[in-house]
Order: sequence, then C-alpha cells, then structure tokens
Amino acid sequence: MTSTPPSQLEEFKLFIHGTSVDARSGASFESENPYTGSAWARIADGNADDIDDAVASARAAFEGEWGAMTGFERAAIMRRCGDAIAANAERLARLEVNDSGKLLREMRGQLTSLPQWYYYFSGLADKLEGRTVPPVNRNYFAYTQREPVGVVGAITPWNSPLLLLTFKLAPALAAGCTMVVKPSEHAPASTVAFAEVLHEAGLPAGVLNVVTGRDRSTGEALSQHRGVDKIAFTGSSATGAKVAEAAVRNLNRVTLELGGKSPQIVFPDADLDAAANGLVAGVFAATGQTCMAGSRLIVHADVHDALVAKVVARANSIKLGDPTEAETEMGPVANRPQYEKVLGYLKGAAAEGATFACGGEPDAKRGGLFVRPTVVTDVTPENTIVREEVFGPVLAAYPFTDEADAVKLANDTPYGLAGAVWTKDVHRAHRVAAKLRAGTVWINAYRVIAPNMPFGGFGASGIGRENGIDALAEYTETKSVFVELTGGTRDPFQLG
Ligand code: NAD
Repeated sequence: MTSTPPSQLEEFKLFIHGTSVDARSGASFESENPYTGSAWARIADGNADDIDDAVASARAAFEGEWGAMTGFERAAIMRRCGDAIAANAERLARLEVNDSGKLLREMRGQLTSLPQWYYYFSGLADKLEGRTVPPVNRNYFAYTQREPVGVVGAITPWNSPLLLLTFKLAPALAAGCTMVVKPSEHAPASTVAFAEVLHEAGLPAGVLNVVTGRDRSTGEALSQHRGVDKIAFTGSSATGAKVAEAAVRNLNRVTLELGGKSPQIVFPDADLDAAANGLVAGVFAATGQTCMAGSRLIVHADVHDALVAKVVARANSIKLGDPTEAETEMGPVANRPQYEKVLGYLKGAAAEGATFACGGEPDAKRGGLFVRPTVVTDVTPENTIVREEVFGPVLAAYPFTDEADAVKLANDTPYGLAGAVWTKDVHRAHRVAAKLRAGTVWINAYRVIAPNMPFGGFGASGIGRENGIDALAEYTETKSVFVELTGGTRDPFQLG
C-alpha cells in the first residue's frame, strides 16, 4: 500500500497519563491518506492491556487531582484548552485531512469552531447546582447534588474525529469526569495530537487518555471494561448496538450517536434555489459522510422535476479534487471499505430499477476513491437506497402530493437523527417540524449545529443527547441527601 518509506511516516503513539507511549505489544499500523492512496503515518496498535493502563490512569485522575477540583478550577483549565485548540487549529485540521480526505476548508472550519464548545461548557462547569427539596416529613432536610459519572470510555468514528470527541469531552470535563478515547482505526492521528495539545494547555495527566488500535478489538476492550462508568459512542447503528450490549452487561450508562437517513421535505411554495443549495449542503458536503446527511429528498410532485434539475445542475458542477486545495468542493470517500460500500449501494439501486439523474459511478478520470455526486430518481419508499444509510454522496428523490403524505414518507424510517422542511408558509413549517420524528429539524436550512443546541437521535439514530445543557445530564449522577433534624430516634421498623 505504501510508497512512503517507513522512516518518513509521521508517528503517533498512545497517550496515557500525560505521556506518549508505545503500545505494550510494540505493534503499530499504517494510516493511509485516501487522496494520495499512500500511507502517511504510523500509529500505535493498542490492545486490551493498553486499555487497562488508560482506564487505570483515568481512574487515578478522577480520584486524584482532577476529582478534587472545583467547577471553577475545571472551567479555568477548559478555557485554556479552548485557546490552545484555536492556536493549533490549522495543524489539527491538516491531520484530519490526511487521515480522512475531507476538505481542508471544512476541517479548518470545524477546528476553529471547536474552542466554542470548551468555552460554552466551561461556563456550565461552575453551575452544577443541586436543589433543596421541600420536606414531606418535617424531621428531614433534603437536598440533591450533581456528581460526575466517573471514568468515561469514548469511541468515535472516522468522519469528524475531533468534533465528535468534543461533543463528549467538553460536557464530560465540565461535569468532572475523566476519559479514555478510542478513535477510529481509519482516522486516529488527530485525536492523539489533540490530547497532547490539551495536556500542554494544562489538562492534568490522566484526564484524557487515547488508545488507538488497528481493528475493532481495541474498541471492544474499552466498551467491555469493568473499570469504566459510562460509554459514549458515535458510529454506525450496528456497532452501537454491540457497544450498548457490552455496556449494559456492566450495568454502565451509555449514550449512542448513530446513523441516519434524514429527509428533506420540499413544498411547492419553497424557494427552490435555496432548497437546492440546502440539498447540496446536506448530501454532497463532506462527500455525504455525515451522520446528518439529508439523503432523502421528499418533494412535492408539482416541483419534483424542476428541483431535481437544479440539484443535478449543481451536482454536475461540483469540483472534485485535492482536499487541501481552496477551490475543491468534494474530496474522495474516506477509505476503501467505505468506497466499496457506496459503489455497492449504487449497483443495488440500479438493480432495483432506479434512474441516475446524475452520477451513479466512480469518477473515472480521477481514479482513487472518488465517487461522482449522485441523484437517484424513480425510487419507491421500499427501495434499499431509500431505506439504508449510504454514508456517501447519494441523494434519493421521490415525490409526495399532500402534507400528511410527506410526513408519513419522512417518518417511514427506523432512523430519526435530523430532517428539514422547505416552505415559505410559517404555519406549515412549524406544523410539519412538530410531526417529524427527528432529533434536529431545520426550517429552510440544513446542516447547522451549535454547542448550546442538543444533538441526538430518535429510534435507531441513538440514545441520549450531546451538546447543550441536556448533555451535562449524560455525565452526571444525581445524589439525594436526607439530613435528620431532630436528633431523636424513630421506629426502626417503619420506612421514614
Ligand atoms: P463504526 O460503527 O464502524 O465504528 C465506530 C467506532 O467503533 C470506531 O472507532 C470502531 O473502531 C469502533 N468499533 C467497531 N466495532 C466495535 C465493537 N464491536 N466494539 C466497540 N467498538 C467498535 O462507524 P464508522 O464507519 O467509523 O462511522 C460511520 C458511522 O458513524 C455512520 O453510521 C454515521 O452515521 C455514524 N455517525 C453518527 C454521528 C452522530 O452524531 N449521530 C456522527 C458521525 C457519524
């Protein structure tokens, strides 16, 4: 696979207890740049022994320096972490591009927005307040406290490693938890460098540990580990189910951010140019490799042809190429297994009778892992391309005739991560948004997120919420404290 001499590969070790260390086994693997097709980095191949070390380090930090800090002290460190991320944004963004082939301009945008998460959650770290609860029995004073869950095991996918880690880490730090993260084998480098940056910014040793690994066994070891108190997972629904099973066997808390097949409903009164732009943003940005990809276009029959024509015209003009170049709009698919998966879905769609209004094949003149932006029409709600997550630049378009029908089609999916409504009718916009079974709904927009807006899915798209004040609840336990006020004794055989 590699044309780069092994000595010239960048090296990324594990990061445990504030130190870069080799995997205990001494093993490593190469990470491939999907644009060049060459190996660019050598990554430590951590296994269950390394996970043991990392969990022990996270536990020590939780029971030690970090656990003893006040929310004010944690907040001050988190603000410094935000500053350090801003200072290192360009370098971290380039590491993500090398690993995933995503556009430099997108990853730059993500990295420069990440400090906002640490600033926002630092503002909550010193506001983890309990309540005093009015007495039922006047002999007792009662109050609640919010305490950190403990050691968090985080497992992340390859599509936006640092953004998706931050969705977990920022609230976890605010709550006072510590973490072991296992990034994807397809994009592990940036997470290691990120942990080093935060450590240099003042995050104490053991608060954030990184164990990379060549295959799923490293993630399995983390999800099954008896020393963690909670698992925070982002990835496919199939893996999420396995991770949840492992967590529940240990009676651990678990949050799951999983896949999607998000609908974009376009009514005939919508601004079709704006909708076409939102469809491009929804499914061709990031080469369609986002959980919130708006991969189903449910469009009123009266404007179906006109809207599809607009999307196709824009899709055909999308500039594919080097992800680091400023004018490139779509990079390659991030890795070969994913590329094969996307092509498999395109073949399957053709076999089920779909028409390709554009794309439908690899970009022959470019080679590598490029797939042309694809719009599929003549599909039914039963077709595989309409039901399953492709995680690539593929939009399936099909018509509706009335509002109830549109809502029914939109909700006809096991997923429920996101969706959009395009209309100028404010009554209809809110009526339809209320009926969509999805964790995020955009009205006349697509692919907008914010640190203070909860993000997560209904149904097969997951369990729990990241971002926003709600996310703190995922990383805290509530403790109820009763204080006896009389100093007397009571009948020991009755419930108090
Ligand atoms: P994946 O499920 O294959 O892998 C995710 C992570 O789990 C990786 O780190 C992997 O090594 C690890 N893993 C694999 N098998 C495991 C096991 N048995 N036990 C423990 N860990 C295991 O997902 P992917 O291909 O890396 O990412 C793409 C998927 O992620 C898509 O389905 C996408 O929708 C989803 N995703 C969801 C969100 C969200 O917030 N909802 C965001 C981004 C991506």
